Amino acid sequence: MGGIARVPVAIALGSNLGDRDAELDEAEDRLAVLLSGAVASARYETDSVGGPADAPAYLNEVVVGSTLLAPRPLLEALQAIEIAAGRERPFLNAPRTLDLDLILYGDFVIDEPGLAVPHPRFRDRLFVLQPLAEVAGDWVDPVSGQSVQDLLDRLPPTA
Ligand code: ADP
Ligand code: MG
Repeated sequence: MGGIARVPVAIALGSNLGDRDAELDEAEDRLAVLLSGAVASARYETDSVGGPADAPAYLNEVVVGSTLLAPRPLLEALQAIEIAAGRERPFLNAPRTLDLDLILYGDFVIDEPGLAVPHPRFRDRLFVLQPLAEVAGDWVDPVSGQSVQDLLDRLPPTA
């Protein structure tokens, strides 16, 4: 359909609780309903950072697609998908069945209570940049002016 303002978006998915592949499969199905032309990266296993020392490893991936939703309703839809996956928030960085972070929303820069886009930490996170580069390496970060592939290439090897 022409003339409708669809905006490309990138969403990072992570799971480190329960059947992680099944959680990500289900999340992909729900995102396919929300987004047009949704494409998923491969899945990457990542050691947990910031949570309890013995936290299980994450399975991470990125989905890109386009949406008719404004940023805040999109974030609310993502949170509804987390809740449907049984997500609880007992403490900061607790293991979770499903985490959905809005990484990029077109070239919008948003800094509001409860909504920061581009996601403020995505440039330091290999587990976001690696899958994101796979499906959207040319996407230019509106804050740094660098492409996703450049951000990945410049990441220190330890990140
Ligand atoms: P984290 O993903 O940092 O481990 P949570 O998933 O619990 O932590 O998210 C904490 C809060 O981050 C959410 O309540 C949400 O309002 C806020 N938030 C701000 N910007 C974003 C974003 N771009 N994507 C997802 N959540 C965001
Ligand atoms: Mg989150």
